[in-house]
Amino acid sequence: MKDEIVKALAFNQSVRIYATSTTNTLNQIGQKFSYYPSALDAMGRALSMGAMMGAMLKLEETLTLKIEGDGPIGKILVDSDAHGHIRGYCDNPHCHFEYNDYRLNVKQTIGNTGFISVIKDLKLKEPFIGSTPIISGEIAEDFAYYFQVSEQVNSAVGLGVLVNPENQAIASGGFIVQLMPNTEEEVIVALEEKLKILPTVSQMLSSGYTLEDIIYNIASDAQIIEHIPVSFRCSCSKERFARGILSLGKDEIKQMVDENKTQETICHFCGEKYYFTPDDLQALYDASIRKEEKNAKY
Ligand code: ZN
Repeated sequence: MKDEIVKALAFNQSVRIYATSTTNTLNQIGQKFSYYPSALDAMGRALSMGAMMGAMLKLEETLTLKIEGDGPIGKILVDSDAHGHIRGYCDNPHCHFEYNDYRLNVKQTIGNTGFISVIKDLKLKEPFIGSTPIISGEIAEDFAYYFQVSEQVNSAVGLGVLVNPENQAIASGGFIVQLMPNTEEEVIVALEEKLKILPTVSQMLSSGYTLEDIIYNIASDAQIIEHIPVSFRCSCSKERFARGILSLGKDEIKQMVDENKTQETICHFCGEKYYFTPDDLQALYDASIRKEEKNAKY
């Protein structure tokens, strides 16, 4: 199945449904950084969440999800936009936990205390930042809680990842069902009944359900309104890293200049390496002095 997001409306347009598959993008990240299975599961869920929330944005808006639990995976970051571009990072991909029945233990990987945050760049003066405590550690429930508390939107979220013995994802995806304020009570009751008997996302994806099948399983009258392809995209560049070095301040840059050797920087999202030669560093040092003089003037 190709990676994509499918958007739909149901019950007289009073319910919005998003479904996504992120298997290929997850494997791209997993292979590059040698993710262990339960870390891969956690990252897949976060990517699916990021992809679907990106699809709620408009044109040039962007989104960052941050999951900061007290588990060994550390911080998880996912960036996305309205066009299906996603990238993901975690502090420690080399952690792994299973339950007694060999199911991957995401809760223990992420931890059950901490916060999830959503930072939306809506191209206004200030970004929108919403944050709620981790209540489950399995991500889906945590985001349903986030939607309810931080955005006042009642939502049901399902996420799942299946990993084979070679540490590759066979399936990674999810869905979000959101109620608009005008949703009638009987629709809510019908949906709740539907969701109670719905197979898990992993079960559905592994038994060959398409994203449309998942949506029709939730609401048989759903109208599909959009398909958005999902792909990995990293926004890093040498210029961005140069700005990062500049922000260290002139004293630290001077130390690098004095070392008189090429410095290597690595993007934690895509693994791309950027090199700064002694000449590059000297130029950054000069720029840092100019910046300081300029600041001193005001
Ligand atoms: Zn990058």
